[in-house]
Amino acid sequence: MKLLKRRSLLRAGAAMLAAVASPALANIQKSNVRSLALHNLHTGERQTLDYWIDGAYVPETLQSANHLLRDYHNNEIHVIEPKLLDLVNLLQRHLGSTADVQVISGYRSPATNAAMHEHSVGVAAHSLHMQGMAMDIRLGDVALDRLRNAALALQAGGVGFYPAEDFVHVDVGRVRRW
Ligand SMILES: [Zn+2]
Repeated sequence: MKLLKRRSLLRAGAAMLAAVASPALANIQKSNVRSLALHNLHTGERQTLDYWIDGAYVPETLQSANHLLRDYHNNEIHVIEPKLLDLVNLLQRHLGSTADVQVISGYRSPATNAAMHEHSVGVAAHSLHMQGMAMDIRLGDVALDRLRNAALALQAGGVGFYPAEDFVHVDVGRVRRW
């Protein structure tokens, strides 16, 4: 009986060591805070947002994200899908990027989107920007094609590549690419 107990203790100890050594667990432990440093290039606003702490989204911080990612044409604010923040956060972690996320476009009101759609072939009539599900971004410390490839690899939504405008569109809609 005593021996059995000791054995199972040893087994438990070995299992714990294995768990600690597991990179997956290490990642979880490091993810107690999910943070994004967002820089809205149109308004010049920059903010570091700890938007997820210890297993839950932080409502006030999500509101700050909604505000920072508003339609800069008319200051209309819309809820930004938290999964979109997670997607960008994950991209940065995969790429080892610590730079600000430079945001070219976040939320777009229907009016702004319609005006842009009229003047640009690259703007969809029913863009996911209108649902707070898309961002056009670049990272100061990652080449644009690497950012695009990492986004494609995640298979987490749509990825659009705009090298001439120097940004990548990411969204949390259906998986597709252009
Ligand atoms: Zn876009």
